[in-house]
Amino acid sequence: MYDVMSPKAEEFISHEEISDSLAYAREHKDDRKLIDQILAKARERKGLSHREAAVLLDCELEDKNQEIYALAEQIKKDFYGNRIVMFAPLYLSNYCVNGCEYCPYHLKNKHIARKKLTQEEIVKEVTALQDMGHKRLALEAGEDPVNNPIEYILESIKTIYGIKHKNGAIRRVNVNIAATTVENYRKLKEAGIGTYILFQETYHKESYQKLHPTGPKHDYAYHTEAMDRAMDGGIDDVGLGVLFGLNNYQYDFIGILMHAEHLEAYKGVGPHTISVPRLRRADDIDPDVFDNGISDEIFAKIVACIRIAVPYTGMIVSTRESQKCREKVLHLGISQISGASRTSVGGYAQPEPEEENSAQFDVSDNRTLDEVVKWLMEMGYVPSFCTACYREGRTGDRFMTLLKSGQIVNCCHPNALMTLKEYLEDYASEETRKVGDQLIEQEMDVITNPKVKEKVKDYLANIHNGQRDFRF
Ligand code: SAM
Repeated sequence: MYDVMSPKAEEFISHEEISDSLAYAREHKDDRKLIDQILAKARERKGLSHREAAVLLDCELEDKNQEIYALAEQIKKDFYGNRIVMFAPLYLSNYCVNGCEYCPYHLKNKHIARKKLTQEEIVKEVTALQDMGHKRLALEAGEDPVNNPIEYILESIKTIYGIKHKNGAIRRVNVNIAATTVENYRKLKEAGIGTYILFQETYHKESYQKLHPTGPKHDYAYHTEAMDRAMDGGIDDVGLGVLFGLNNYQYDFIGILMHAEHLEAYKGVGPHTISVPRLRRADDIDPDVFDNGISDEIFAKIVACIRIAVPYTGMIVSTRESQKCREKVLHLGISQISGASRTSVGGYAQPEPEEENSAQFDVSDNRTLDEVVKWLMEMGYVPSFCTACYREGRTGDRFMTLLKSGQIVNCCHPNALMTLKEYLEDYASEETRKVGDQLIEQEMDVITNPKVKEKVKDYLANIHNGQRDFRF
């Protein structure tokens, strides 16, 4: 029985409700009148229900699809402006006791190089990341209570926050580790993490169980209810995601929206971010079974429809996607991207020799951070290295309220410009710096509050003179 307020996975993600919504969407995919009604509701920028969004996702009317894309683009601009937050993943360990059939870290993979960073190696990796200009990391690790216990993750977070090298600093550590207990979530919160990220992979219980035949991740309910436990542990910024390509995409699209609805209704705060990873080829993974079955067009439609359905949520796309694909979805709703990522354990300080490959999957976008930053700016985006909200305690519902009020133009925008300025001063190539300084000058006009504007001017001058870490 479907119940958005239920603590039970199978009730807040009801298979029956998803199946009915799928049928409803199929039935109405050409229903111009209904689609117009849904679009009118979406224009209020308060989001859509999973069922309404499913109709848009299935819509096959060309003119309506163009309206969907245009609306997604507008909503993105209204809530997030032209800022794109930058981050990098940091793989701590690929030891894993799970049997995830699409992931090369699965226990039965005996030829992948198993690695776990020591604290000294973490210092080297993070120093290399700081030297690129990164300020925000997403920690990644396999699930292994012996090799990667929570104490190891906590110690690593402490090490990372403690590394101060030249003007570098990691100011926000997000964490993507396996579902765990309320007690461990509380420890992660106390360690000062930003977002807790956990991908559902698929919301389809039967497929989920087949894809995760062994290990603790096999438990669908424990995995699906993890975000509730994380919030019970005090983490109020959580990041959802499904791995597109594993299962029927419409099913998982509805599932992730139901999950967002559940968090908002039951916990009072929706997801801080939604990630849209797509399956990639990887070591020891059968390419005939896992061939990334979603076209770029469908992928773009998914991004646009999530943006419309959950206007307040940050949306993340990783280097699993190519430059071309990222370019397309940036317009449609993405607010955060990774740059210069390595998916191997220890790949930043020193590239891995081929015979020691520990990578999770091949990335499609291999550019340097400087190239990515310049590319974003040339398209009119402001790459942002901002981490202010979480450091100022603007998390959970406080962040959502700020975002929904539209006041971020006097807060996030200046912060984005100042952190970009830091990047340009400390890490950018000559050419990128030129493009960036010009962009910052233009973008000052976007700040509407004259007092804020004056302050930003001062802060930018101070940054140029060597001071760091100003924020609103
Ligand atoms: N071990 C943790 C867990 O199980 O949730 C999280 C860390 S794992 C390194 C991060 C994510 O990588 C997984 O949740 C999965 O969605 C994604 N992933 C695994 N195999 C992949 C593949 N072949 N292509 C793309 N993404 C993959």
